[in-house]
Amino acid sequence: MRAAGLVRSLRAVGFGLQLRLRFGLQAVRFRQGRPGEGHGADGEGCGINDRVIDRKHDQMCCAVHSAASCRYTLYTRTKLGYLFYKRQVRKAREWFPSGHSSAHPVEVNGIKIIPVPVLTDNYSYLVVDTELRVAVAVDPADPQAVQACLEKEGATLEAILCTHKHWDHSGGNKVLKRRHSPCRVYGNAADNIPGLTHPLSDRDRIEVGRMRFRAFFTPGHTVGHMIYLLDGRALGGPCSLFSGDLVFLSGCGRMFEGSASTMLSSLDTVVSLSDSTLLWPGHEYAEDNLMFAGEVEPGNSARERKFEWVQQQRGQKLCTSPSTIGEEKEYNPFLRSHATELHRALGLQQNPDEDWTRFRARVLEELRRRKDIYKGR
Ligand SMILES: [Zn+2]
Repeated sequence: MRAAGLVRSLRAVGFGLQLRLRFGLQAVRFRQGRPGEGHGADGEGCGINDRVIDRKHDQMCCAVHSAASCRYTLYTRTKLGYLFYKRQVRKAREWFPSGHSSAHPVEVNGIKIIPVPVLTDNYSYLVVDTELRVAVAVDPADPQAVQACLEKEGATLEAILCTHKHWDHSGGNKVLKRRHSPCRVYGNAADNIPGLTHPLSDRDRIEVGRMRFRAFFTPGHTVGHMIYLLDGRALGGPCSLFSGDLVFLSGCGRMFEGSASTMLSSLDTVVSLSDSTLLWPGHEYAEDNLMFAGEVEPGNSARERKFEWVQQQRGQKLCTSPSTIGEEKEYNPFLRSHATELHRALGLQQNPDEDWTRFRARVLEELRRRKDIYKGR
């Protein structure tokens, strides 16, 4: 179904801007009240939670696609996704004038990482070379919030690193690019990144001031998803990974545009990084994710300890990032497809003629399926 045709059809049945999108009927639940008051990672890295498509429209669309893929197509391929994102930004500014969470910057030898809470549960990041006063923005979904942060830091925006095309990550690219015209916009060409000026391939390097990043191609959530590793070693500190919607604290993104094997290969890239690497994900989903992890690995004491700490943090609306890759390997079930305890809990066994990686992909697929229908508390 062509995008323009879809928009016309929607108008014809009188949805207008009242339309609210929602992914997968079973996979997604409604939030009661304001977003952020609940704990759900409903869309898990899509930014289009708490929305509804009218039943009539579902019926119309399902004649062609499943309801879930139809909603996803609307969000990613039509103007409706953008309009929805704009509405989401407006509402979030109204509900959370100071951001959905309080976050503290981390600074090592003059390189400062500032989490910027945007929308209802996203994080953008500003990475600033405080000596040279130049900055890089990661996934600047709300350009106003990122601009305010830039002004506070007195830094010039030289580059935008975009992890993927979803509006809750890429929606601010063009506005910031217009305001800071020499600013480069990085991302993968396969992902239709708004304002893209510098298409990247796996392991490409990006340099801004004294900051050295390496990009990794990590498809699965989207076809062109990228993650960015800031090299801390030269500065005498840990590396930092900006993981977008590939990995969250104790979770991973939905596999919208890739198979479990593709996603597993991307997650293995994360696992291969040094344990001391700091993880800066694209969403605040820690509490919900750790609860789910408790369902599939109830005896995991590392998870229990982290969950207690996360509950304290979230009780005060404090940001739960960064964790480290070493920590994630201990409790994040999506990075533990090798773990026997997990296989037992999921009721899965490697078949005699089954390749180990293929088996781990099957474990990941089952985990993701369970998380997609997980209702939380
Ligand atoms: Zn996403």
